[in-house]
Amino acid sequence: MIFDILTIFPDLLDSPLNESIIRRAREGGQVQIGVTNIRDFATDKHSMTDDRPFGGGEGMVMKPEPLTAALESVKKKNGSGRVVLLSPQGRQYNQKVAKELSTQQHLILICGRYEGVDERFIAESVEDEISIGDYILTGGELAAMVIIDSVTRLLPGVLGCSDSAEKDTFSRQLLKHPQYTRPRTFGGQDVPEVLFSGDHAKIEQYRFLESVRRTMKRRPDLLRQESVAFSKAEIKLLKKHQLYDRIKELFQEQA
Ligand code: SAM
Repeated sequence: MIFDILTIFPDLLDSPLNESIIRRAREGGQVQIGVTNIRDFATDKHSMTDDRPFGGGEGMVMKPEPLTAALESVKKKNGSGRVVLLSPQGRQYNQKVAKELSTQQHLILICGRYEGVDERFIAESVEDEISIGDYILTGGELAAMVIIDSVTRLLPGVLGCSDSAEKDTFSRQLLKHPQYTRPRTFGGQDVPEVLFSGDHAKIEQYRFLESVRRTMKRRPDLLRQESVAFSKAEIKLLKKHQLYDRIKELFQEQA
């Protein structure tokens, strides 16, 4: 998959793109990531990429011409892709959107700055606007990184263990179960006995129930949003532990 990032602060992305899983995915060829400096496409002698807003008001607005020229250059090099503007006014990013984006061949991520981007560039060139949450960042670079990171780990061959993304929180509207490592006792707290039983079926059942209990306690809204597709065996287990009726109630509360 190809990611192209358009920014006026390319150095901001240096370290996150060159460490850990993203670095390995780049080296392994699962992703190709290009960073384009919008400033290189400014046409005036001061390399201006922003200007004062028409009608007055605070701050500066990113000019449409350098953005358009930078976008054209990326498309010429890597072909057309899905053009996404990072924006607090966009649709809300979540694991579902990450999955949807992971099916694309080429994502072009545009990072805004200042008060934002001239509306005519958005109307002409942007296909999708994405917000990573209801708060205001200084620029789109961190938001672009959030998308690249979360999409990359969904791509085949990126994570060491093929099913670990499948078992992540949100992969099926359930939070992940609690996890433990050595030492067996810490601060007077013991790791649950069942995890040493060697009985994989029992461990899976324990983890599943903890996952459900944790979701009901911390994020009941997830169970309300969508009916989780439980298997027959899971329903039987949930009924045995008096959880099934409560989950149904949560889902119906929303309906
Ligand atoms: N004045 C704009 C507004 O009120 O909508 C906010 C501009 S913000 C300071 C500058 C840039 O940061 C935006 O153009 C966008 O690219 C990025 N940004 C800020 N918050 C974001 C968020 N929650 N999600 C995605 N991008 C964001």
